[in-house]
Amino acid sequence: MGIFDTVTEAFASSAQRAPGEGSEGDSAGAYWCDDCATRVRDVDVDDEGLDRDADGTPLCPDCGETMRFERASSTGCAC
Ligand SMILES: [Zn+2]
Repeated sequence: MGIFDTVTEAFASSAQRAPGEGSEGDSAGAYWCDDCATRVRDVDVDDEGLDRDADGTPLCPDCGETMRFERASSTGCAC
């Protein structure tokens, strides 16, 4: 039971950590503001309530500049 408890606890803690992270599978990339170093994943833009310009590009919540899209490179690496 001790081992089972440990595994369950480890799984629960990893699942709890950073609610917004860990679901990279449905994210094609992220939007960056170079001036502010602000990063918002494409799937989080609507959740964050960011405004968009005429082309649908999100605007930085801090400075209002158009953000730059950066496609996620490889999958499975959290470096
Ligand atoms: Zn900005």
